[in-house]
Amino acid sequence: MHATNVIRSAALTEADRLMTICNACRYCEGLCAVFPAMEMHRTFGDADLNYLANLCHQCGACVPDCQYAPPHEFNVNVPATLAKVRNESYAQYVWPGMFAGAFERNGLFIAVMFAASVAGFIAGFVALNDPAALYGRHAGDFYKLMSHNEMVALFGAVFIYAILALTMSLRAFWRDINGSGDVAAVARATGDTAHLTYLGGGGGGCTSENEKPSAQRRVYHHFTFYGFLFCFASTSVATIYHYALSWHAPYALTSAPVLLGIVGGLGLVIGPAGLFVLSQKRDPALTDAPRKGMDTAFIAMLFLTSVTGFALMLGRDGAGMGLLLAIHLGVVLALFATLPYGKFVHGLYRYLALVKYARDKRHATFVE
Ligand code: SF4
Ligand code: SF4
Repeated sequence: MHATNVIRSAALTEADRLMTICNACRYCEGLCAVFPAMEMHRTFGDADLNYLANLCHQCGACVPDCQYAPPHEFNVNVPATLAKVRNESYAQYVWPGMFAGAFERNGLFIAVMFAASVAGFIAGFVALNDPAALYGRHAGDFYKLMSHNEMVALFGAVFIYAILALTMSLRAFWRDINGSGDVAAVARATGDTAHLTYLGGGGGGCTSENEKPSAQRRVYHHFTFYGFLFCFASTSVATIYHYALSWHAPYALTSAPVLLGIVGGLGLVIGPAGLFVLSQKRDPALTDAPRKGMDTAFIAMLFLTSVTGFALMLGRDGAGMGLLLAIHLGVVLALFATLPYGKFVHGLYRYLALVKYARDKRHATFVE
């Protein structure tokens, strides 16, 4: 079943052409999930192509051995074409639709949100307190500058909005691709996500700076992914401490929230830094080069979240804690607010595509 309400872009037209060639060739069917999923189709509607594009992990493994890759006249370049379709799909399904443009110049959008958020916290701290509070010593007590209730209200509202926007976007995607799943499919997709199976490039790893594959991209994705989860766990434990146990911040360096935050923070320094270095070396021909700013903006935000968090932890007893707190809260709020409108969404769309793939594969769903 194909959706008919989606305008076919040049990227979708090219993806249709490539998938038709690949479906006849099938040389790459052992590399990843894209090719077996493709083989379940005879023709490719827009929603089918959006599904396949989000199944692709852009490992690049299908380029070096392709007999139809440039300079062959067939000009087959699956990773770059699916990257374009994937990035366009984020704008297509975004909620509300008026934010579709955020994906077009995403680096600029994220940078403006970041700057406005940090400036807002600095101005807010000055307006709500004595301006000298920014440079005073507060014995690590963040709540002298902004009360716990104010922080919870602001961050909670933005986080709930982000969850709503993400849910609506994912719902539109899932419906359009005719998604279906069951417990076994969810378990399989969760396992493949936890292992980042399809960043393995069929065994050799990702092709980054040359045709020699390496595991580095997968390793740095792991640092980033689990770093994010540890930081989320840190915040969750701190929330339980505050509300269930009435244990209030600042917490000791050996407490669970701080230790989880340190581990997660290290992951969010090493992972994004490694991904940034690899992205600079990666052959642009394998990517959606004009939208590289989206990748860079997201890993920069994760990196800054971690670095400013460490700076705050180390400087919380000194003069300037207020400024460090304003910068850190500004980064985190901008990260939350832009979750539905940046690269973060790629992991969620990919997860749903993996669920559908696991389900279709077991039931051998074949689409005419
Ligand atoms: S990428 Fe090339 S080698 Fe692989 S299936 Fe497509 S046409 Fe065949
Ligand atoms: S780039 Fe990797 S994940 Fe994407 S289609 Fe090619 S082999 Fe599959």
